[in-house]
Amino acid sequence: MAIPNQRKYLDYNATAPVRPEVIESISMALAITGNPSSIHQDGRLSKAIIEDARDQVGQMIGVAPSAVTFCSGATEANSTIILGLKYAGLVKEIFCSSIEHPSILELVPTRNHIPVHPTGELSLEALRETLSSINSPFLFCLMTANNETGVIQPTREAIDIVHYRGGLILCDSVQGPGKLSQNSLPIEADFLTFSAHKIGGPQGVGCFVSNVSQQLKPLIIGGGQERSMRAGTENVSGIAGFGTAAQLVNAQSNLMAIEDLRNRLEAKIREMRPDAVIFGEDRPRLPNTTCVALEGMSNERQIIKLDLSGYSVSAGAACSSGKVATSHVLKAMSVNESLAGSAIRISIGQNTAWSELEAFLNVWAEL
Ligand code: PMP
Repeated sequence: MAIPNQRKYLDYNATAPVRPEVIESISMALAITGNPSSIHQDGRLSKAIIEDARDQVGQMIGVAPSAVTFCSGATEANSTIILGLKYAGLVKEIFCSSIEHPSILELVPTRNHIPVHPTGELSLEALRETLSSINSPFLFCLMTANNETGVIQPTREAIDIVHYRGGLILCDSVQGPGKLSQNSLPIEADFLTFSAHKIGGPQGVGCFVSNVSQQLKPLIIGGGQERSMRAGTENVSGIAGFGTAAQLVNAQSNLMAIEDLRNRLEAKIREMRPDAVIFGEDRPRLPNTTCVALEGMSNERQIIKLDLSGYSVSAGAACSSGKVATSHVLKAMSVNESLAGSAIRISIGQNTAWSELEAFLNVWAEL
């Protein structure tokens, strides 16, 4: 088995390597003793770290810092919006696209999952049709870009449709920053959610943005932290790391260079295996993501063999048991089970070199 420092990490959509500057800012924050709720100087220092990070995250997204609430990650952020609206009685019905992350899908009744086209994009016709008969307050959830295929969703059109029908919309934008330009983030949505560890920050911290004045019911009750929207002493060092990652993500992400690498990878795949299927190939996609299937070659086998050779890639979805499950995203795109069962996702980022992708292709070709 390859030793860790010889490994080639090609799974940025699962989690991205923590940036060195982030490690530095986390260490600095850890060295400060002070509860951000304490009124003495030490407490105020901790509080200032949080507020600086809020500015940095707000700037990354393009919203006022006051719209940003920190929490433990996008899973909690999605739950807070969906359940918070429901418990406050602000929405009666909740809908989502059929390719959402489980943190949304699991909270929405299956009958309210709106289909996608075989290209992986939400069917706006199906959304219009479904909403045309809804008369009660509702929430619709649509991700900015899919984590498995990279296919970018028609969020602007969906926002218009939802607002025209008087509803609210949540855009899970976890896969946006660092992969899309800032002006591609759907900040006109009522709610957006983000996660630090997808942008070179630490795991276990994220945020939601709320653009509405109505008060959601908080999930975690206690002290008045985060304007009473998320009680509990803040994860100051994690938030500091999130802020630093947010500050660096736009400056350090060379989207064109990453897209060029991804396109070279796909051109080689095509050359080596003309029978390979690359999902969402002709549609607007994240520049770093390739989801590719080779009929008849199980993704579990590919992933294990690649892992043993030192390459970290993913299948569409992994159960908590670590077993590879059939991707709900590919299923929603009407991909047949055997093809979906042979799909792997390669997702690259700022540290990926062409030599690593070439070496990966050599191993993959031998499987
Ligand atoms: N939404 C999307 C689109 C994601 O890719 C992820 C992470 N896989 C999440 C939500 C959950 O984020 P977190 O790990 O911060 O809970």
